[in-house]
Amino acid sequence: MIYLPCVGDPTSVSLLTYMGVDFFDSFSALMAARNEIFLFPTGFYRKNQLPEIPCCCPTCVTTDDVSSMGYGEILQHNYAMLFSELKLVRNAIVTGSLRELVEVRVRTRPHLAALLHILDLHHYKFLEERTPVVRKTSLIATTKDSLVRPEIRRFQDRVIQRFEKPASTKILLLLPCSAKKPYSFSKSHKLFRECFLNLANPFVVHEVILTSPLGLVPRELELTYPASSYDIAVTGHWDEDEKKMIRALLQGFLKKNTYDATIIHLPPAMQTFVSDLVNQPQATCIDSPTSDTSLTALSNVLQELTQGYDRVKLQRRMYENIMSLAAYQFGPALAKHLMKDCTISGKYPYQKIMDKTTQLGMLTEERGLLSLTMDGASRLVETEQYWVEIYDDFILKGSIFAPGVKDADDSIRIGDEVLVKKNNRLCGVGVALMNGTEMIQSSHGEAVKIRHHT
Ligand SMILES: [Zn+2]
Repeated sequence: MIYLPCVGDPTSVSLLTYMGVDFFDSFSALMAARNEIFLFPTGFYRKNQLPEIPCCCPTCVTTDDVSSMGYGEILQHNYAMLFSELKLVRNAIVTGSLRELVEVRVRTRPHLAALLHILDLHHYKFLEERTPVVRKTSLIATTKDSLVRPEIRRFQDRVIQRFEKPASTKILLLLPCSAKKPYSFSKSHKLFRECFLNLANPFVVHEVILTSPLGLVPRELELTYPASSYDIAVTGHWDEDEKKMIRALLQGFLKKNTYDATIIHLPPAMQTFVSDLVNQPQATCIDSPTSDTSLTALSNVLQELTQGYDRVKLQRRMYENIMSLAAYQFGPALAKHLMKDCTISGKYPYQKIMDKTTQLGMLTEERGLLSLTMDGASRLVETEQYWVEIYDDFILKGSIFAPGVKDADDSIRIGDEVLVKKNNRLCGVGVALMNGTEMIQSSHGEAVKIRHHT
């Protein structure tokens, strides 16, 4: 446990907790009360700066004259503010929204904003190891700090380093994001999909969504956090940092993934900063992406460009889509092991990986990642990645707690699908609730939630 004496006030406990501090004392409350300063999570005020009673804490409600409040009363107020902020922090930890609280709180004091910025820029590894790969709450991106959030950076890195476009696709279609997530459930993306309906060869097209703060999201990753749930302040204006980020990612993506042609169905403000990066760009968005004119242009260009290719079958493309997602989740080498000679069944977004009649894994909308069966896990066990080894005498049922863990792959992150081994043999598969290093170092706590075991 980390105790930081005499530091920690209502504006800073969220950030300090995010940095790893476990407990605080009340020094700031006492010191401020001595100086007639009222603490709030949004800043500090001297008694004479407050024309009216500042809050509804149990002490403040007992008086209507702020100038009459002495040391003892201000101290009680300060305690109340500290306690209520600690409660907010604890709730945010449980709901997984601590980072959002931190981004709100650091706005009020420049040195806290500077600390968060330094943390993001220089301590990415520390943060990334502690940031889950799956989350239920939405990622709120309302500040520039969001551009460098650890889960954003990790997503971008994995799209460039691990993801591979579906192999049969030859035409790139760049689309704007939608407010509703996943994108394909939104009104605008349903209109885009309608342009595919009458195509003889729709599966030769690869859709990639350009957006901030994620940069680019291949359609195959739209169910995956953070692409599955993020919320941004939409203004239609792109600032230079966003443009630079999107351009760099698109360039990196196109270095590895090549296409014969590109359709740019993006608002004019976006076209201007991406068109020069792509091969034979065809712009189909005349005014707004969802206008009749733009949609007709998109249909026509799709019709014309897709004709010249051999027909890509639905079954083939479904397989390749899951292969691309598996490459993002496990890396390309493991994806190939998992997917060898498989077929895909089920209706999107619930799709199963089948080895003839045996199910190896499944994509679900809830997780946005592949969940493995024991048969799926046994295909990956030789690859020596995403494994957790438990003690030989550990009886596997329900969850694995940290003391039962003998060793674990340090690349495991919270939310990852992991293989459990005992005596060097596969004995279970489940979801990591700690990162690999924490599993080894912790003396208590749930390490893996088991889904299947022998
Ligand atoms: Zn008060």
